[in-house]
Parts: sequence; structure tokens; C-alpha cells
Amino acid sequence: MRVAERPTAAATAGNRTGPLLRVQDLSVSFATGSGRLRAVDGVSFDVGAGETVAVLGESGSGKSVTAQTVMGLLPRPAGRIEGGRIFFDGVDLLDRPDSYTRALCGTEIAMIFQDPLSSLNPVFRVGTQIGEMLRRRRGVSRRKAREHAVEMMHRVGIPAPHKRVDDYPHQFSGGMRQRVMIAMALSMNPRLVIADEPTTALDVTVQAQIMSLLADLQREEGMALVLITHDLGVVADVADRAILMYAGRVVETGPIREVYDHGAHPYSVGLMGSLP
Ligand code: ADP
Ligand code: MG
Repeated sequence: MRVAERPTAAATAGNRTGPLLRVQDLSVSFATGSGRLRAVDGVSFDVGAGETVAVLGESGSGKSVTAQTVMGLLPRPAGRIEGGRIFFDGVDLLDRPDSYTRALCGTEIAMIFQDPLSSLNPVFRVGTQIGEMLRRRRGVSRRKAREHAVEMMHRVGIPAPHKRVDDYPHQFSGGMRQRVMIAMALSMNPRLVIADEPTTALDVTVQAQIMSLLADLQREEGMALVLITHDLGVVADVADRAILMYAGRVVETGPIREVYDHGAHPYSVGLMGSLP
């Protein structure tokens, strides 16, 4: 059953020949006590349809702020876009009214966060939350949305999903909660999924399970996947391409193995040592 169908709104003005996502010379600043901090400083990169791209970099290098800006989630008024453009399927997201951007980002671009509890509402059943977007955006009935939630929970490897669908987030382990979050993110059949440190809060064995789940889903669904992490080891076998950020800038980009093996930036040379 595939209840979620691709919306057409974003495709109407789309430039089909370009990359799915193009971030162009993006700069973002935050107000600090003594002025403004340039958190993202002239960042440019592309993500092609169906591509898996790792965004690497140490803590504080601007990875999350870049992702938040793409999603229209930059906290305001502290955060300010100083310049640049973000194209999704040829449509400039920064050029559109908020409502349009939100609609686009809720269905065509989905995000997975480090801590699923920050995105899951503790007082609603997981099935309700997974099916929520379908009900709101597609007008799907409560019963159909619940069925879809069970199917999504099955797809992300949650055992006995028909029994778990009415449970609350706190009744799941950390790894299972991240699977719920992934089910939610994929419920609208997005074309791009941005996962920001999706395994950082998990045990090492669970980390590997979640990463291979994301890789499997990417292969099956064909969506583009952006994996943000400070940990090279967890994405080495999953990503096609790597973008390395340092102090708000992109300092290297290329096939993931090439960045590891021939990285010219001192920081990537340093990171190589952390590979197994
Ligand atoms: P990363 O995800 O690579 O660890 P971030 O993108 O979260 O780094 O942060 C980049 C820089 O922006 C850091 O210096 C961080 O302190 C700052 N920053 C991020 N979010 C905020 C915020 N909401 N308010 C003020 N400063 C922020
Ligand atoms: Mg971050």
C-alpha cells in the first residue's frame, strides 16, 4: 500500500535537469553578546537525486545550521541568513513565502534528528504521529493513516508493529525510537531526507543497525540522503560523496574514499586516523 503520493506543487516550477538540492554561497549568522557569529560562511554544495552525501565536520563547524536553514527551521530572530540561495528541484526556497516553503519541506524534504524525543510528542501515540502528515496534508482517514503507520513501522524493522502502533514514544528503546522517527520522516515518501547525527545518541551496535537501515531504505526508495555526522566511521560504507566542513566553510568535497585517502585539508588528514 502506498498511500503517500508525490505532490506536484514543487515540480511545477522545477528545473528537472539540475541537482535535486543546490546550496549556493549560503551564509548564516547568529547574534552573540558582542556582535554576530558567522556560523555558516559561503557554503555551496549540490545533492543529486538518489545520491547519498555525507556532511562531515567537527562539532560547531556549521553542519546543523546548514541543515536547519534548508528546512526553514533556523531559529529567529537570533539566526539570520546573510546571503545565498537554496534551490530544491530548481525552486529557490528562500524566495518563496513561508507557507510554501513549509509545505514543500514537510512533504518533499524530511529531517531526522539526533534525539527522536525532540521531534516526537510524548503525549501522542507513535502511530498517530507517523500518520499525522498524511491526515493533515493528504486528507487521509484516521483508519487509513493508522494502517499506513503500521506498514511504515514494519518497513523500518519495528517488531510486531500492529501491537506497537498505539504505544507512546517513552515505551520504545532509543534505537526503536529512532526507527519510529525514520518511519515518520519517510511517511510522506520524501525525495530528500536529511539526517542530522541520526546515530550519535545510540549504542555502537545500534548505531550500525540504524545506519544500515537508512542505507537499505535509500536503496529501496531511491530518495536522496544527506547524512550529517562528526563521525567518519559510521558513514564510510554508506555515502557516495563527502562534504567536509570546517569553521562554517566547505573545505573539501569528493568521493568519500578520496576525501579520506587524499584529503588535503589538515582537518581531513586528522580525521583519517579515526577510520577503522
Ligand atoms: P555542528 O552541527 O557542525 O556541530 P552547528 O551548525 O550546530 O554546528 O553550529 C555552528 C555554530 O553556530 C556554532 O558556533 C554554534 O555555537 C552556533 N549556533 C548554532 N545554533 C545556534 C543558535 N541557535 N544560537 C546561537 N548560536 C548558534
Ligand atoms: Mg550538529
